[in-house]
Amino acid sequence: MSKTNLKPATQPASKFVYSFGDGSAEGKADMKNLLGGKGANLAEMCSLGLPVPPGFTITTDVCVSYYANSKQIPDGLKEQVAEALAKVEKAVGNKFGDAANPLLVSVRSGARASMPGMMDTVLNLGLNDKTVEGLAKKSNNPRFAYDSYRRFIQMYSDVVLEVDHYHFEEMLERKKHERKVELDTELTADDLKDLVTQYKDVVKKELGNPFPDSVEEQLWGAIMAVFNSWMNPRANTYRKLHDIPESWGTAVNVQAMVFGNMGDDCATGVAFTRNPSTGEKLFYGEYLVNAQGEDVVAGIRTPQPLTIAGKETGGELPAMEEVMPDVFKELVKVYQKLESHYRDMQDIEFTVQNRKLWMLQTRNGKRTAAAAIKIAVDMVNEKLITKEEGIKRIDPSSLDQLLHPTLDPKAQKTILAKGLPASPGAASGTVVFTAEEAEDRAQHKEKVILVRIETSPEDIHGMHAAQGILTSRGGMTSHAAVVARGMGKPCVSGAGEVRIDYKAQSFVAAGKTIKAGDHITINGSTGEVMLGDVPTVQPQLSGDFATLMGWADSIRQLKIRANAETPLDATTARKFGAEGIGLCRTEHMFFDAERIIAMREMIVAKDEKGRKAALAKLLPMQRKDFAEIFQIMEGLPVTIRLLDPPLHEFLPNTEADMQEVAKAANVSIDMIRNRASELHEQNPMLGHRGCRLGVTYPEIYEMQARAIFEAACDVEKQKKGSAIAEIMIPLVMNPKELQMLKKLVDDTAQSVFKEKGTKVEYMVGTMIELPRAALRAGDIAQTAEFFSFGTNDLTQTTLGISRDDSASFIEDYKKKNIVEQDPFVTLDQEGVGELIKIAAERGKATRPAIKLGICGEHGGDPASIHFCQKTGLNYVSCSPYRVPIARLAAAQAALK
Ligand code: PEP
Ligand code: MG
Repeated sequence: MSKTNLKPATQPASKFVYSFGDGSAEGKADMKNLLGGKGANLAEMCSLGLPVPPGFTITTDVCVSYYANSKQIPDGLKEQVAEALAKVEKAVGNKFGDAANPLLVSVRSGARASMPGMMDTVLNLGLNDKTVEGLAKKSNNPRFAYDSYRRFIQMYSDVVLEVDHYHFEEMLERKKHERKVELDTELTADDLKDLVTQYKDVVKKELGNPFPDSVEEQLWGAIMAVFNSWMNPRANTYRKLHDIPESWGTAVNVQAMVFGNMGDDCATGVAFTRNPSTGEKLFYGEYLVNAQGEDVVAGIRTPQPLTIAGKETGGELPAMEEVMPDVFKELVKVYQKLESHYRDMQDIEFTVQNRKLWMLQTRNGKRTAAAAIKIAVDMVNEKLITKEEGIKRIDPSSLDQLLHPTLDPKAQKTILAKGLPASPGAASGTVVFTAEEAEDRAQHKEKVILVRIETSPEDIHGMHAAQGILTSRGGMTSHAAVVARGMGKPCVSGAGEVRIDYKAQSFVAAGKTIKAGDHITINGSTGEVMLGDVPTVQPQLSGDFATLMGWADSIRQLKIRANAETPLDATTARKFGAEGIGLCRTEHMFFDAERIIAMREMIVAKDEKGRKAALAKLLPMQRKDFAEIFQIMEGLPVTIRLLDPPLHEFLPNTEADMQEVAKAANVSIDMIRNRASELHEQNPMLGHRGCRLGVTYPEIYEMQARAIFEAACDVEKQKKGSAIAEIMIPLVMNPKELQMLKKLVDDTAQSVFKEKGTKVEYMVGTMIELPRAALRAGDIAQTAEFFSFGTNDLTQTTLGISRDDSASFIEDYKKKNIVEQDPFVTLDQEGVGELIKIAAERGKATRPAIKLGICGEHGGDPASIHFCQKTGLNYVSCSPYRVPIARLAAAQAALK
């Protein structure tokens, strides 16, 4: 069954509700699939004896059943919720809906994987005109009671009743204006009471029905809203971006409210047990005094640092460590307990009500790739986890963030502003002010920086499309910061000096006006915002990165090679740890302006004589290239593929090109024009290329083999290292092609060895890149000493699509569940993968010691690397920048 379909209509198991509170719980951490991440961890924290407000979780199964049964809840759920609610009432000593002593609850979503801010939440539920009075009396704080009530009406109306929140915001602003105050906190209980009346009136006017007074109705409205929010457009986009199946559903957590907004001895905050940007082992977080949960994450007020050490980035505001030292000490104990229990960095949320600490959430914290590596290496050194666990925790693809250039420290910079270093890395691009424009321009391959006062879940698609994100408001845990870190994108948040004017489509900073369309650079590691595109430098791969890679190397079985044909590529590949070259595409060695003329001359030559003349010009160039590469690789194997030019890439097309070639070859331009049209192919990707060229014009491959052997002999003779050449014949479809060409290579080797008076080691093998070659692998292995799977062509010829054309419909195919992945990224296991398995088996049956590798793009894709390990390949070869990704993925594959 496709993974994105909902399960067929079924009644879920008969236990729908799991309670927690008072030091015990029915669920536990490993029940995430059923209880969602939040619910499972709340239960676990309860069992650990941590202070958690009591509550209960409605399972994800209920959500799945809700969608499978036309949005009906299963029989028995209402009774189980009532029972669980009674337990909560008992634990806190309040009663839901009781006028004198009311229990208030929060209702929150919580899926298996965290989807921050994507689904709905309702707080302060259980308030009406009667219970609010009870709350006022009990708390001895009418202002607090009415503030909670107006927040509840606003949130519930927005989330459940779908009354636009701007109505409420406008009324609040008007009230503040009327009362001549600036902050919400300056409004009195009577002001808030009046607002509540206004809010209720607007709901009645908008909906035709009054705001629900019944707390039961409120509760079920909120539960349904959470279920419905699983399918809202934001959640759908987020799931698609993060490969979260629709079939998982969300759980609903109902929990007794605790209040961080009851006065100055109350607070709410979020924290990471280690720094999520750098991985440094330092407790790290933010809090707000007299505030409610969502205020911190929403970035509406600038939060204060938790620790004195954290004040550097937090500015002047006092730290919690100073303001509430006792609660802070307790929080430290709790976080240490959580980290050693979960054996991973935790992202926690807490509330302080009248100096009492309450834990509201814990989960494994999202982190940047650099932080992930540092935390894994540190935790192995702290003996908290094993090396193997450390290796398994890093997503190989995320290493990409570290392998790319950073800003050149020597570059000239015009600093516009400084904000918080919210997500590291540097990015340059065009300024855009809306998510829509970011997406639009990115579709036209433009690099953009999304500039917003603050971001919200509606901006997620624009954030995804942008190179980097800049906000003028919000802290290190603001929406922009958290989401950017999750996406591995540079982000500068809370750059207060940047004054954004959405209407004018511009911002002002450092006295300069920057308009939409201008270029800026942001550095998410320092918080700097700079004018224009600032130049970059190559990354450093030492320290923890090298340690982790060393562990991966000691575990993996697959060898990792790189696809490289220039000295620069070869050097980069070695720096990244490549153990050889798996594909040197010799035709790419002729892209150079000067060389391409000789290459064209050779291709359009009308006879052997003309071809030989051009080949004589190419020979010394090739010899020099190979010698350089052999030297760089210092005795590591180098697979050199003989010429495989899709002809259209090399034929001269313009008059000027033809003139140049005619001059070099000393023939008429008409002759060149005629040859070019004779050689023109309708589908050059499938035509006269690969070994077919070697069969029809043997002198080409002979020249190349000569250049390879001469270079190898020279390098060995001059003691510049040893050279291991693996000569690879492309696009073979018939064993006879290979027999013929291997003989040519062997004969050439013998001649060169005789001339040079020395010998070098070499092998002759082939690429398997056509289905027929895969099927005839048993016969081909009679001659081939190695196979290298050319999965680019094999995908094209098996599935009948080309890489360039696939993009246009694969996305649609994914949406329609015809395919799960782009077959040009991850091996299509039922087609291309199956052919590889067949070829490997048949090849080994003929020649048990045959060397097997892969050199198509899939060689750098983690999922495909797992497949290569399972199929018994010896190595994978990928682009130099993906070598570290492949090393880690190969280690993970070996551990599976
Ligand atoms: C392949 O086909 O997978 C391959 C590596 O060759 P090229 O991409 O050069 O056709
Ligand atoms: Mg190919």
